[in-house]
Amino acid sequence: MAAFEYFKQNVGRAADLLGLSKSEREALMTPDRILRADLTIPLEAGGTGTFPAYRVQFNNARGPYKGGIRFHPEADEDEVSALAAMMAIKCAVVGIPLGGAKGGVAVDPKKLSRNDLHLLAREYVKAFSDNLGPDQDIPAPDVYTNAEIMGVMLDEYERITGKSQPAMITGKPLSLGGSLGRDTATADGAVTVLVAALKDRSLDPTSLTASIQGAGNAGGHAAQILSALGMRVIGLADSGGTLMNPGGIDVEKTLVAKESKGSVRGLYCEGSVCDAAALASDGATVLSAEAVLGEETDILVPAALEEQVTKENAQSVKAGFILEIANGPVTPDADASLASRGVVVIPDVLANAGGVTVSYFEWIQNRTGERWEASAVKKKLEQVMEDAYRSVADVAKDRGITLREASYVLALERIVDAMRSRGKL
Ligand code: GLU
Repeated sequence: MAAFEYFKQNVGRAADLLGLSKSEREALMTPDRILRADLTIPLEAGGTGTFPAYRVQFNNARGPYKGGIRFHPEADEDEVSALAAMMAIKCAVVGIPLGGAKGGVAVDPKKLSRNDLHLLAREYVKAFSDNLGPDQDIPAPDVYTNAEIMGVMLDEYERITGKSQPAMITGKPLSLGGSLGRDTATADGAVTVLVAALKDRSLDPTSLTASIQGAGNAGGHAAQILSALGMRVIGLADSGGTLMNPGGIDVEKTLVAKESKGSVRGLYCEGSVCDAAALASDGATVLSAEAVLGEETDILVPAALEEQVTKENAQSVKAGFILEIANGPVTPDADASLASRGVVVIPDVLANAGGVTVSYFEWIQNRTGERWEASAVKKKLEQVMEDAYRSVADVAKDRGITLREASYVLALERIVDAMRSRGKL
């Protein structure tokens, strides 16, 4: 795992293009603060569990620190730092006045009960509450956390501080001041950017196919939105396997099967035994989890975890477009190899910024006491994402660089500008 190294490479390239000085580069690659704690909770199954937890506050030149908290066995300081840094880039790319942070707990949430997870959420807030707050650092959901966990974290924060502070966290339940449209925001924003990129190349989304890796909040919603748009979703994968169907997957049925059986392959399989007759009559196949990356498709949508397309498998990618809904799914080596073959990568810091954009809308609503209609959220999100795509695409065209390089160039310019205005550079 070298996630932070990848971030530095991306910043390094953009800094070269911008002609930034050594000290400026240094400032852009250094987190403001790394907070760590060991969270100990009594487990429902008996005994106690201790889990390392992190909050990395990367940069707040443009506004309060902002970023999700993930519960994942592989969360560590390097990964959380890289993700915090990417949040700062993301907010700058879409031009919202927030900085970058990220949190993580090294835990396998599938092994804990609901009650255990609630206790863990409370311990997390207890450990870091001095450094959190609506004007300081605003968490949100990330991998394996959700609105329910945000609700518990808010409750703990308000218990500690003794006052109502809904704007201290986003992605929370509607009943606690969450925003309409936040649950589908990441996927909605990504699809808006994809459609803009296709339009730029005179391509019609309804004549194209998509394969999606990840069937959780981001991937599942992306599959639904793309198929509602008229695109043929021919591949859908999760950690249990890949479902391929060149004739088009029934997304709704597949997501229902995932919900009840734990994996998309549950549509045709019970454990390791699959219904061959049903597969044959639907024209579907069940493959390994990684297989989705190398299958024939126009658009590949990695919407799970980082480092999926690497130097080793980049050559086998057949898609013409990669829409990075996950954070960091394509490594820099793979990036170079894909670019040399003309594969268009729509980078994470642009593609998945819809999530934090609607978090920003939620934060505004909490602070003003307004409640925005779902249609208003959707319209504003589309506007932000379309504008961001246009700005990035223009920089890419003017400088003859990739969309990732252009996103970093645009973001660094904005962050450097804010740091200079603060007299920090
Ligand atoms: N976890 C999401 C991300 O990586 C959302 C962050 C937020 O809404 O603050 O962008």
